[in-house]
Amino acid sequence: MYEKFMGSRDVLNFSALVGERTNSRGKTYIRCDDGRDFTYQQFWNLAGKLASALAASGATRGDRVAVQVEKSVEAIALFYACLRGGFVFLPLNTAYTSSEVSYFLGDAEPTVLVCSPAKVEALAAVAGRAKIVTLDASGGGTLAEAASHCEPITDVASTWDDLAAVLYTSGTTGRSKGAMLTQGNLASNALALVSCWRFTAEDRLIHALPVYHTHGLFTATNTVLLSGGTLLYRRSFDAGDVLRVMPEATTMMGVPTFYTRLLAHDGLTRAATAHMRLFVSGSAPLLAETHKTFFERTGHAILERYGMTETSMNTSNPYEGERRAGTVGFPLPGVEVRIAASSPTAAFSGTSPVQGEDDTRSDVIEIKGPNVFAGYWRNPEKTKEDMTADGWFITGDVGHFDADGYLVISGRAKDLIITGGFNVYPREVEMLIDAMPGVTESAVIGVPHADFGEAVVAVVATTVLSSADEAEMIADVRQSLAAFKTPKRIVFVSELPRNAMGKVQKAVLRETYTSSFASPALT
Ligand code: AMP
Repeated sequence: MYEKFMGSRDVLNFSALVGERTNSRGKTYIRCDDGRDFTYQQFWNLAGKLASALAASGATRGDRVAVQVEKSVEAIALFYACLRGGFVFLPLNTAYTSSEVSYFLGDAEPTVLVCSPAKVEALAAVAGRAKIVTLDASGGGTLAEAASHCEPITDVASTWDDLAAVLYTSGTTGRSKGAMLTQGNLASNALALVSCWRFTAEDRLIHALPVYHTHGLFTATNTVLLSGGTLLYRRSFDAGDVLRVMPEATTMMGVPTFYTRLLAHDGLTRAATAHMRLFVSGSAPLLAETHKTFFERTGHAILERYGMTETSMNTSNPYEGERRAGTVGFPLPGVEVRIAASSPTAAFSGTSPVQGEDDTRSDVIEIKGPNVFAGYWRNPEKTKEDMTADGWFITGDVGHFDADGYLVISGRAKDLIITGGFNVYPREVEMLIDAMPGVTESAVIGVPHADFGEAVVAVVATTVLSSADEAEMIADVRQSLAAFKTPKRIVFVSELPRNAMGKVQKAVLRETYTSSFASPALT
């Protein structure tokens, strides 16, 4: 299907492709945890009606529609409503405060803002020229009410290059930027995933992800939609709930936290998962330990893949063949991946690769392909900065290919610690600490230091270790690593701070420990 569609990309577009698959289908596309079922036809009809209601609220072709709502079927139908109406979908994390939303609205200048009824008052002050309509968690609200009286919109003619969505990146440094994704970006990626992960109309995927982020919004929904399968749609992730619905499922896509929480539940057994075809993990690194323990408990090797807002999915471990823990596999069809010395801070050291010193060969990962976004919204300077002269997107992730061609991610270039002029990739230190007895996981950060510029500090999540173990652990790390890479201090905590996508929030850790560990406390 991937080759067939990509061969005819000039005449097709994503909305036509989706429409063709959904228009006349009586099959269930979404089965909700609130008991509602939507056939493909009902879902497409709902999207068409919502599109008409958005048009009645003033949206015209190319206008942005900002959406900050709780997860519901209507919330994802809004994306397809935008495809059908030719509007640009702009989802916002439900956790954003009104002052954060104010920045996005000022930057994107949407015509319509769809929000939860509870937020109308707070957002009215920052909505600017956007008309506010509402959608609640059970699919009610002024927009839904208006849509119920509308006929589905007549689809606008669109092309491969038309803008489908603007997704603001999580922006851990500086202001977050709007990644412009075209219909072609999304269609090509979904088709590649259907083919690589062998999705068919028989599939039923557990969907417990948020729908304001690319993983739950595009990866899970478009892959199932284009293969004709069914989404088992959960409002949020709860291990007990997921295990209860698992007998109906064939596949699940999740962030690493889903897998650690499932492992903490007694209901996760070989028998409970025996009928499952595939477990996929992404959005944050899956610990090799989680991969191993999940395999021992269930007999399933979790398939880890790598993607980001700007590019959707880039690489995946193989469906058939070894799914290698600690790696993110091979480039997807049509996607090219290279390791390049494009960042001065992550420059290749020049020494020949020595086993056990993989990080010295690591560098910034660059991507090319139909999945790569069209640039940052109204920010050509930043777009230029993040693209090489020969057209590759500079991801900011650092990694290398192992001897068998599996891509290994060793960290983010911006997480690089420079201490006394030496580069330390936190992942190298974290992997060593993670393998030590009593450690659940770790995060290694740099804190300001008068002499060294930055000093290495490790934050270790554990249920058994305490500050009494600090000196011994530092000595153990020192046995394997150079002194400059060895943490000056180790802090023990019960868990690491994470965002909703399961990513460890290093910025939060840096903020927390900068004042407590800034020199002269560190020697
Ligand atoms: P986002 O744009 O929020 O999806 O974040 C994308 C970033 O998440 C990537 O640039 C990586 O740093 C990280 N990421 C995604 N998948 C993985 C993975 N499987 N392993 C390690 N990091 C990942």
